[in-house]
Amino acid sequence: LSKGKKESHKANFEIDLPNAEMGKVVTRFPPEPSGYLHIGHVKAAILNEYFAHSYKGKLIVRFDDTNPTKENVEFQDAILEDLELLGIKGDMMTYSSDYFEKMYDLAVKLIKDGNAYCDDTPLEKMREERMVGEPSTRRDRTVEENLKIFTEEMKNGTEEGLKNCLRAKIDYKALNKALRDPVMYRCNLLPHHRTGTQWKVYPTYDFCSPVVDSIEGVTHALRTNEYRDRNAQYDWVLQALNLRKVHIWDFSRINFVRTLLSKRKLQWFVDKHYVSNWDDPRFPTIRGVTRRGMTVEGLRNFIISQGPSRNIINLDWSVLWALNKKIIDPVAPRFTAVDAQNAVPVTLVNGPATPAKEERPKHKKNPEVGTKELILSGSVLIDQADAQELNESEEVTFMDWGNVIVDKIEKDGEIVKSIHAKLHLEGDFRKTSKKLTWLANTDDKVSVDMVNFDHLITKDKLEEGDNFEDFITPETEFRTKGYADLNVRSLKEGDIIQFERKGYFRVDEPYANGKAVLFYIPDGKTVSKYG
Ligand code: ATP
Ligand code: MG
Ligand code: MG
Repeated sequence: LSKGKKESHKANFEIDLPNAEMGKVVTRFPPEPSGYLHIGHVKAAILNEYFAHSYKGKLIVRFDDTNPTKENVEFQDAILEDLELLGIKGDMMTYSSDYFEKMYDLAVKLIKDGNAYCDDTPLEKMREERMVGEPSTRRDRTVEENLKIFTEEMKNGTEEGLKNCLRAKIDYKALNKALRDPVMYRCNLLPHHRTGTQWKVYPTYDFCSPVVDSIEGVTHALRTNEYRDRNAQYDWVLQALNLRKVHIWDFSRINFVRTLLSKRKLQWFVDKHYVSNWDDPRFPTIRGVTRRGMTVEGLRNFIISQGPSRNIINLDWSVLWALNKKIIDPVAPRFTAVDAQNAVPVTLVNGPATPAKEERPKHKKNPEVGTKELILSGSVLIDQADAQELNESEEVTFMDWGNVIVDKIEKDGEIVKSIHAKLHLEGDFRKTSKKLTWLANTDDKVSVDMVNFDHLITKDKLEEGDNFEDFITPETEFRTKGYADLNVRSLKEGDIIQFERKGYFRVDEPYANGKAVLFYIPDGKTVSKYG
């Protein structure tokens, strides 16, 4: 298996990293612990891992923890667990917060060299000035004044300090707006989950990222290409501080139709109780998609098959689910379920008087999946939808059992109320056109909820200016009650199965107190009625 994985790596990532030397490449995956990892992060993590290992170099997993307002230990731990689940292991694990002292000293150096200034221009005005390319009135503060504000006021989070931020003095009217004196440091009085209240000033991403990359020995910083305008700024910081150059390599973000991949927006859905939590099956998080029935192998294969492509793409989920189906289909055990609503009792006049047990393979093409118990009974249930297709005196096949001849159909309007039939086991199943699923109507059948989900938002692609809150899908969970065969009692959480003729399901709540809950797994093709 792992061999196959490596080969598919090779087949699809035939791409070289510019300026890369065998044995010397160092990459980093820098998640901010401000949410759970989502499918976009999987791409970033896999690309970094791929380049580190194909050049026999090193992968650093770095928690980019510079903003106490959004970050916490719960997210940090969840990220570690999810990386482990993906099979991604860094050669080194670090924290941006390990470098707070060093970064602070470097910020002081920037000021001393006349490369940064403290600015208390109100936010709105600063934004306006940056937009039109005008200098801040604080741009020409003296080094002494800046040093005093940064090291005494900002560092201690005083009232005066809180009004200020530290800005790089680059070029207030640069064509590339990212160079218009970007913010390098800000005050924040909230305690940090690792350093507590030791710090009241924190570096911005724009300062921290180049500095820590350089200090840690990163040779290639992989960044999504919406940061491309900020590459010049990244280089400027390293040059101004006389730090080792780092190569930037852009790749494209992935996006999916009707899906939000922003931790801030996902947090909103959690806070508003539109979803149960970050592992909700409607979420594009690693936990969400795996809970829905995505396999780690499917996820990895998908990302690798996409390649790093530099275009921003709006992918369709069906491609990913179709890939997943190829992985689960050969191994998913088959069981039987019947919809509870209007299930049709069928009496088999010559059926077993008392229920009989037989053994059947769980998978017709893969004996390794094992065997299951099949209950044969003179009283069975079939789906209403199937029953409505039947005609009196028609011969059909009951799967895993044999042929049956329909004698009498009792209806109330369109609804079939009951059926009388007789077994015709000598009949040839190859000659019938209808193969039906059926379930012995005995006490050992299991109640199941079969649950399907819809996307959380209604619009394929949100445009700039769209507010996602205006596009919330009103109903996203669909529950169908059913009965399943007794084997379902022994399934465990996370088991992936197929209910024959219904689709693939993942066990979310194993059998307890008379019931099990299973989530429908999309297969990329069928529009299931379970949704
Ligand atoms: P979010 O907007 O969800 O907070 P982020 O980019 O701020 O995402 P980080 O934790 O800072 O999240 O990201 C860690 C890494 O994952 C970064 O290298 C980032 O570029 C990458 N990444 C995030 N989202 C995507 C995506 N949709 N596609 C590809 N890479 C992504
Ligand atoms: Mg980020
Ligand atoms: Mg972001």
